[in-house]
Amino acid sequence: MYLEIARAVANGPDRIAIETEDGASFTYGELHREVARMANALLEVGLQPGDRVAAQLHKSVASLFVYLACLRAGLVYLPLNTAYQSSELDYFLRDAEPGLILVEPDNADAVTALSKASVGAPVMTLAEDKDSGLAQRVAEASARFDTRLCAASDLAVIIYTSGTTGRSKGAMVTHGNLVSNARALTQVWRFNNDDVLLHTLPIFHVHGLFVATHCALTSGARMLWHDRFDAAAVVRQLKRASVFMGVPTYYTRLLGEPGLSPQSCRGMRLFISGSAPLLAETHSKFEQRSGHRILERYGMSEAGMITSNPYDGERRAGTVGFALPGVEVRVVDDTDQVLPVGEKGAIQIKGENVFSGYWRMLEKTKQEFTADGWFRTGDIGVFDRDGYLSIVGRAKDLIITGGYNVYPKEIELALDELQQVVESAVIGVRHADYGEAVTGIVVLREGAEADEANIIATLKSKLAGYKVPKRVHFVEGLPRNAMGKVQKNLLRERFG
Ligand code: AMP
Repeated sequence: MYLEIARAVANGPDRIAIETEDGASFTYGELHREVARMANALLEVGLQPGDRVAAQLHKSVASLFVYLACLRAGLVYLPLNTAYQSSELDYFLRDAEPGLILVEPDNADAVTALSKASVGAPVMTLAEDKDSGLAQRVAEASARFDTRLCAASDLAVIIYTSGTTGRSKGAMVTHGNLVSNARALTQVWRFNNDDVLLHTLPIFHVHGLFVATHCALTSGARMLWHDRFDAAAVVRQLKRASVFMGVPTYYTRLLGEPGLSPQSCRGMRLFISGSAPLLAETHSKFEQRSGHRILERYGMSEAGMITSNPYDGERRAGTVGFALPGVEVRVVDDTDQVLPVGEKGAIQIKGENVFSGYWRMLEKTKQEFTADGWFRTGDIGVFDRDGYLSIVGRAKDLIITGGYNVYPKEIELALDELQQVVESAVIGVRHADYGEAVTGIVVLREGAEADEANIIATLKSKLAGYKVPKRVHFVEGLPRNAMGKVQKNLLRERFG
């Protein structure tokens, strides 16, 4: 994958690749040399191609360089959400067995203890510290590095997705997956070296890591790099940008900014949304305020991007558009037979973008593919007569909150572990800002006392913040059907 970026470096080494909020900038040539230094420093730690580099790092240019250095050196990058707590991290480390773990300095002691008790991998930071910091090693390393020629089938990244059983699965993404997706997206979204991408997404997820950075860096464009999303800062910077990518929550927050206007968007050519459903209402309000129709696309960790609304032609609200070049999409019934237009069914996909399986989960991987090689996305969709795909639901029990996926099972297990709790159900309820808000419904043990704030506080110490219920309701018992399954639809009606 790195060769795609190296081409942009060769075409314009003096062009600006990245500009940060505090005014620092890196040309493509500088980026190439910094990435070389980082790659050399990583190999000096003793890593071999194919080794995993786990990175639980805040978004920064340096952490982006770690990713690019892994691509360049044939190391497997393993991004971890900074919100993950120890017990979550422990699972990822044991499962992925990284050869190196990169963390923030204030987390180094805790993660070192975790690593010692499990994989025994060295834990380092990007700080100056001589022993455990990479910064000095990077500064002293050579700025030359022969990019490793990776095969399309070589593993590039492992992205953990939440599992329906509460156990996360590591989606194995290859160099071939990344290259095919980057080429398709730059083509359909018309990326070019005049573009300026305002990058405010996190980079532990496909959206910010692959879609945004690959589109920009393979086309020689400039990125305005913000370490986090701040609606007011975005509105201030839009006039300098041409493309913006966000999750629906970003767009609803931008609508809350008085400065959002056709004037502040005058240099923009494209707003892209994805990772969760964009409400038709947000779509039309955003158009009224900015003069731009948001282009919605659909993708997932296992496949990068799958479909997109058209660049030219109608961007239809409530739909995710057409299959990208090189991607096939079909909607099928329970027996994997293709359904006629207009009928809802399971979305299955095929193409070079589709991942090579779940890390060390052969059986699970097998179940998720049909005999003739189609990947079962777990999403329910329908094609309209003009060929636009809409996502109408999920076969899997999944909540998407602010663009992040939460599998209720994981949260239910955490709730059930609490001494006062007999059982629980977790549902998503509509939320103006997050799209869906994680909501816990809890049955307490007889005589047990617990209040909402207390339960929420306890879960906060165990789970990443976005997974913790925003509200907890107490009930006498959970409604169940004849098969004993909790009727979440009734809970949604009551607490939605
Ligand atoms: P992730 O692997 O975290 O990127 O999550 C992928 C899931 O997000 C998909 O399987 C869909 O359920 C959902 N998703 C992504 N994009 C959209 C979209 N534009 N509309 C509705 N759901 C989406």
